[in-house]
Amino acid sequence: MIIGAGASGLAAAVDLKDKADVVIVEARNRVGGRVWTEKFSDGAWIDLGAAFVDGVGPKNPVMQEFKKHGIKTTPVFYDQTAAGNILMWGLTGAKGEQGQAKKFGMCGMLRAGWAYSKLMALYEEDKLARNRQFGALEGPDEDLWSGLRKLKSGGCCGFGGIDSLDATTYAMVKSLVMTNSEFIFTQSIHTLSYRWFQADVVHNGGPSQLYGGDAYPETFLPLGGWQQMCEKLAEGLEIRFETVVAAVRAEGDGVVVELSSGEKLPCAACICTLPHGVLKAEKVAFEPPLPAPKLDAIARMSSGFFNRCAIRFDTCFWATNGMVPCSGRCVVNMRIPTEMGRDDPTNLQCNWWFDWSLVAKSNIIVLFFFSAVAENIEKLADAEVIESALKTLEMHFPKEAVRSSKVLEMKMSRWGADPYACGTYSSYPAGTNGEIHDHMASPHGSVFFAGEATIKGMSQTVAGAMVSGRRAAKEVCDHMKLGLEPLES
Ligand SMILES: Cc1cc2nc3c(=O)[nH]c(=O)nc-3n(C[C@H](O)[C@H](O)[C@H](O)COP(=O)(O)OP(=O)(O)OC[C@H]3O[C@@H](n4cnc5c(N)ncnc54)[C@H](O)[C@@H]3O)c2cc1C
Repeated sequence: MIIGAGASGLAAAVDLKDKADVVIVEARNRVGGRVWTEKFSDGAWIDLGAAFVDGVGPKNPVMQEFKKHGIKTTPVFYDQTAAGNILMWGLTGAKGEQGQAKKFGMCGMLRAGWAYSKLMALYEEDKLARNRQFGALEGPDEDLWSGLRKLKSGGCCGFGGIDSLDATTYAMVKSLVMTNSEFIFTQSIHTLSYRWFQADVVHNGGPSQLYGGDAYPETFLPLGGWQQMCEKLAEGLEIRFETVVAAVRAEGDGVVVELSSGEKLPCAACICTLPHGVLKAEKVAFEPPLPAPKLDAIARMSSGFFNRCAIRFDTCFWATNGMVPCSGRCVVNMRIPTEMGRDDPTNLQCNWWFDWSLVAKSNIIVLFFFSAVAENIEKLADAEVIESALKTLEMHFPKEAVRSSKVLEMKMSRWGADPYACGTYSSYPAGTNGEIHDHMASPHGSVFFAGEATIKGMSQTVAGAMVSGRRAAKEVCDHMKLGLEPLES
């Protein structure tokens, strides 16, 4: 029995289906889990869960599936060279009203780019020094922002530290750090681990050689969305949809999976792919209880917020935004909050927006919300989210153009409130390290664990989820003496 038809559960089932009778029980009415492609009425698509493929090397299991099923990809274009599209915004006035956003000039971009690359180089040096002194898993830790603020270098080309930067450069550098931390790890820079920052990232020396490492630096998107890959994986598998698991109990050598309906499903072994957030929210009971190291890892690990909102308009009013030629690509536009904008607890401003029209051939803009802002936006009704999005877009485009365009449809995620995800994906708060993934992965009697939160070095990704599913399938085979070829390293 496999709990969950996300990427990890499907990958496990594919490996096991010829060896044993495999049934997947899935709470939703679809496969994919945190892979979720939504369709607009004009046929355009948007991924509200996994969106990007990093490191498109031939060993990446995702790329292997794309190749097998003829799924094409398109590169993502970060519009940082056309600095005119990057906006800096703040708040003014006693009521905290939106200030006039100003365009971030090329000189500012170059200054901030230099400062950011210096900062990250110092961070890598410091991390290596700490690894040499304490070993990779030990040594003092602190929150990411506090640690970064201490980094300085001397000499004629020295970097005087974040706090020595002028206000504009500071805002941009902080935004870049936040983009690479709050976006990728869905946690505030004030809670993320300094020591484990970017530990699972493909590039920047991350350990995920399986992806192809630095040989494949560009980011891609699958055309048509990610869900098609999960649907292909699911072909020929036995899946019971809308089947919510309430408890997992050991019975003799086997397991009984108990549903919320009260039905009991006995099986010889079980692979549990419940997301970390679901385990942390204790939505499913385990009997006997999970061991202390696993419970501790669940408690210490964190699954934060990251939501997208895609709006389809009747006109493409943003097409006049001076875009550089990027036919067929997804263009990312950054928005940089000043300290005033960032510190507002009611902030609903997105950090990025995508021009999705070039990829989806439909008048669609996609707004990205990370961390605390993503948590705020989840609480609003759809109409309120749209109104807030229109106010944001008014900072970029003439108000008349924004307001005279009709909103035709809106699709958005609310991953925190989703009872079958309870958050976005796992991350390392300060004081934790990659060992927590090992505890998340360790079997419990005849119950085996898979999912993105159970794999060190590849967590937070679809590829990692798939590899974890295959690892669990191998463990089940060993346990039941079914015989399965070892995973290719
Ligand atoms: C907003 C967002 C952006 C992301 N961006 C990227 C990206 O760009 N690139 C990338 O590679 N990865 C990305 N990810 C991460 C990626 O989506 C996940 O790592 C991966 O899909 C997790 O797969 P999984 O099988 O571990 O978990 P899931 O896909 O969550 O599968 C678990 C399954 O268990 C089911 N379930 C939960 N509770 C129960 C229950 N009680 N009973 C029965 N079934 C239950 C769920 O419905 C789900 O189908 C993103 C994720 C999110 C949310």
